Amino acid sequence: LWITFEGGDGSGKTTQSELLSTWLGSGGRSVRHTREPGGSEVGRLIRDIVLHHRGDIAPRAEALLYAADRAHHVATVVRPALARGEVVIQDRYLDSSVAYQGAGRVLDGAEVRDLSLWATEGALPDLTVLLDLDPAAARLRLDADDKPFDRLETEKEEFHTRVREAYLALADAEPERFLVVDAALPAHEIAAQIRDRVEPLL
Ligand code: C5P
Ligand code: MG
Repeated sequence: LWITFEGGDGSGKTTQSELLSTWLGSGGRSVRHTREPGGSEVGRLIRDIVLHHRGDIAPRAEALLYAADRAHHVATVVRPALARGEVVIQDRYLDSSVAYQGAGRVLDGAEVRDLSLWATEGALPDLTVLLDLDPAAARLRLDADDKPFDRLETEKEEFHTRVREAYLALADAEPERFLVVDAALPAHEIAAQIRDRVEPLL
């Protein structure tokens, strides 16, 4: 079973993916919690490049770096864990690229998705939890935690609005893969909605 978490910065992916992992682990499941970018040793090097050079990498180069991270992560971490029968809980996957490198950086979303599918030999998760949040609310949340929202001047509100809209369009296009949750709800309510959807998959 492979579950990915998606959503804008500050939507609570890390919190919710950890809560789900803990719940599954306490139920006796073997869980592999991982993330992109940077879920492998090679990936951590790529993560350093993409995060330290945000805004000054050519958009297609950025898309290829994310795809390279993803290719290596799926081949060396995700597929082996799934083959061992582990539940893989993952913070971000290819929908992030369609939203950020596609809609955010204004590349063709279908091409970005095809690039990721080529990179991963077509690997798609069983379930994708989309934590949907208004970028203004996300900004307030990140400010309160003293975390950066606009790590660069170029990433203004319109960027995050495009990302959000792209995510919602992806969920609309594949309703059977996506669970869309209102990320403005209290964390425990979000966690309960996610558990309700995951339970029948176990
Ligand atoms: O989710 P995480 O905090 O690990 O993401 C790090 C940063 O990389 C985020 O600010 C996110 O906006 C960005 N990112 C991106 N494109 C992706 C994945 C993440 O721009 N495909
Ligand atoms: Mg996070």
